[in-house]
Amino acid sequence: MNAGSQQPKFHLVTYGCQMNKNDSERIAGVLANLGFIETEDESVADVILFNTCSVRQTAEERVYGKMEDMIKLKQKRPEVIVAVTGCMAGRDKKQEFKAKMDPVDLYFPTPQMVHLPRWIAELRPDLVNSDSLEVDYLKLQPLRVPSAQAFVTIQTGCNKFCTYCVVPYARGMERNRPAKDILNEIRDLVEHGVVEITLLGQTVNSYKAPDQDCFSVNNPYVRDYTIIPSLQLNHFAELLWEIQQIPGLERLHWTAPHPNSMTDEVIDALCLPKQVNYLHLPVQAGSTAVLSRMNRKYTREQFLHVIQKIKAKRPGIALGTDIIVGFPGETADQFDETVSLYRECDFDISYTAQYSPRSGTLGVKLFQDDVPKEEKKRRWGILQSLMEETTKRKNQAYIGKTVSVLVDAIKNGTASGNSNEMKRVSFPVKEGITIGSIVLVQIRLAMEWQLLGEVIL
Ligand code: SF4
Repeated sequence: MNAGSQQPKFHLVTYGCQMNKNDSERIAGVLANLGFIETEDESVADVILFNTCSVRQTAEERVYGKMEDMIKLKQKRPEVIVAVTGCMAGRDKKQEFKAKMDPVDLYFPTPQMVHLPRWIAELRPDLVNSDSLEVDYLKLQPLRVPSAQAFVTIQTGCNKFCTYCVVPYARGMERNRPAKDILNEIRDLVEHGVVEITLLGQTVNSYKAPDQDCFSVNNPYVRDYTIIPSLQLNHFAELLWEIQQIPGLERLHWTAPHPNSMTDEVIDALCLPKQVNYLHLPVQAGSTAVLSRMNRKYTREQFLHVIQKIKAKRPGIALGTDIIVGFPGETADQFDETVSLYRECDFDISYTAQYSPRSGTLGVKLFQDDVPKEEKKRRWGILQSLMEETTKRKNQAYIGKTVSVLVDAIKNGTASGNSNEMKRVSFPVKEGITIGSIVLVQIRLAMEWQLLGEVIL
């Protein structure tokens, strides 16, 4: 920052998933190092950034909508820098989206955030005088709001090319962070009061350590890679074990795994002591024919077999999933297979989306979006009702049981947080309970989306 000037301000809007949120924390870290402070008020910001999501058309529409506001703002304050990054900028190879974003000064895929210091200095030398950071963006320190929970990206990009998905185009091929960097980041977070870590990756359990020699000799998942070289391909269980050894960490959670990388070692690691009693395992469809068109690379039977092994290893584990209904060519019978798979797995929660074609994906090139909108909506409704019915039944079964809750909110005498099974639990707050406390709560009442109880410890 130039001497004598006021501290510059940035306003950052994040759309989409937790990984985007974690990327935004890195952007905030870069700007804080330049002397910027964050503001909630875009009208006073010197730099306004949009970290975009491309998963659905509606997410992209929201960004175009914001551009209208930016045009008006720039008429009043032409010196404001407007920047767009994230998945839209990442997958827009022909700059077609950018053409619809008139007021944008900076437009860059996420990893290029390392150039923000130089770009801002070129556009606004009155604000900063700086150069690009010669580092991999995943090495940048995220600037987090102090909390007992933190998200840690261990991998970005994806090699799987599911035919409906923009991620491989928006984020590129799979890239994994060194295990040493991940462990150091988590140790540092724990020293600063974090008790729960969620590891993030597009297919988090396909994690491959570029520095596998950093694992401890007593890590039970380390195998002799020289005997079976192909085992070098996956080190997720090894990483989970190392993280579990960090003193002060209480809970470990990860999302989103791919069914094909649920190896026996990873399933075994579900029983490590700090692992939460919940797994989110996206299935997307229950019909092998649909899964094949989606290029998910597993069959219905293979998915069910993985679920069977998980339940055998950790009975009572809560399960979540992602489902897409109305994928091109999905017949009524094929949809019924998704319903029956849902029942068989007995998922605790599902995030169901109605298929929408995303430009640039293989799905758009190969298939016609032939399931009518109304039918997609009907199928979505069936799965929603099934989820509500299952959730109600499962929540009722908690009455009288005791669950461990990490408190993340306290308001008007009521504390709330997630149980180990990722169920929302509320209870009257008692003396000594603060945000970040882990308490045992006996459940008295089950509502549709939360459990109510009383602290017993
Ligand atoms: S596994 Fe498939 S759905 Fe998941 S990020 Fe990769 S391409 Fe997308």
